[in-house]
Amino acid sequence: MSAADPMLEAERVLRICSACMYCDGICPVFPAIDGKHGFSLSDVSYLSNLCHNCQGCWHDCQYAPPHPFAVNLPATFADLRQRSYADHLWPSVLGRAFRASSLAVPATVALMLLITVALVLSTSSPEIFFAADAREGAFYRVLPWPAMAGLAGASFAWAVIAITLATLRYWRTIAPETTISEIVRALPIALSDIITLRHLGGGGPGCHDHDERTSQRRRILHHLTAGGFVLSGLSTIAGSAYHHLLGVMAPYPVASLPVMLGLVGGVTMTAGAAGLLGLEARANRAPSDRGETKLNVAFLVLLALVGASGLAVLGFRSTPAMAPLLTVHLGLVFGLFAALPFSKALHAPFRAAALLRAAIDSNRRASARAPNASGNSP
Ligand code: SF4
Ligand code: SF4
Repeated sequence: MSAADPMLEAERVLRICSACMYCDGICPVFPAIDGKHGFSLSDVSYLSNLCHNCQGCWHDCQYAPPHPFAVNLPATFADLRQRSYADHLWPSVLGRAFRASSLAVPATVALMLLITVALVLSTSSPEIFFAADAREGAFYRVLPWPAMAGLAGASFAWAVIAITLATLRYWRTIAPETTISEIVRALPIALSDIITLRHLGGGGPGCHDHDERTSQRRRILHHLTAGGFVLSGLSTIAGSAYHHLLGVMAPYPVASLPVMLGLVGGVTMTAGAAGLLGLEARANRAPSDRGETKLNVAFLVLLALVGASGLAVLGFRSTPAMAPLLTVHLGLVFGLFAALPFSKALHAPFRAAALLRAAIDSNRRASARAPNASGNSP
């Protein structure tokens, strides 16, 4: 970011773009700024999360550096996206911590790992911790079920509550005056854009991962990571159903639903996160922001570690390595849940909210263009 005040920089760049509109058609940001001459904090907060950072407008821009206008929309939005996370985090004190340090995620994960190790050491004897044990209930002899379920439940409930409240705060900032029927009409469009990640396509050909060439790699890897995360969550739910409904305790056979879901989810999440880290490592830094890169890397490393440690537990669960591996895996999972509300995970609900507003606005533009009942354009 070149300017000291990011709002002034955003206003300057967006005015140039709305006059130029050469990039109209690449992504929904441009229809959203078409004809606008002033940009409020709400507009900028909305637009920065509507941007999917495909970098198409950086590579196509005739006013990018070394042009004196120095337009760099992806970097401008990357900085403002982080500010939008900090401004809407709940509780507000988290926002201040988020602004002050990029170490919030690793520090939280380290704390949860320490708590997990302390709990395991206080409840399990060395004979159990270093023994091979693949019998039913083996995991709960490392960390008793009440402690495991208590830490998982508390950290997950915290994540759900904090993310929901932050997203509602964000929606209140960016929401247009609208009706329930407008929202209902916009939802299928927004959901389709969210699920397909259409706007990671840079208007069709894909993202610029590190140079002029475009590809769909980031989109595919993002799908793998998110899909793996969902499957891993479903594996935990299936495991709970086995435990509470069928009365069978982990570890489960390889051919069981919890293990199959966990195996596929763990492999895809680890592969997706590792692939995205590879793209980050080779990315062109000019159209990006250092703070956002750190946020991305911290989250991707955490997802990759959670996935890989889960697979390691599965692979070595009949050996004396099971208990140490399970302890690390559980600590990472609790750390992931606890850190979710101030991690890059926030981009998902914030971008979903921005896409919903874009769909509402798009429907309104389409209605305004539609011929009226007498066949004349309005
Ligand atoms: S990014 Fe550059 S080329 Fe694209 S609309 Fe803005 S000023 Fe024009
Ligand atoms: S980086 Fe891509 S998504 Fe973001 S404003 Fe530019 S073209 Fe749109």
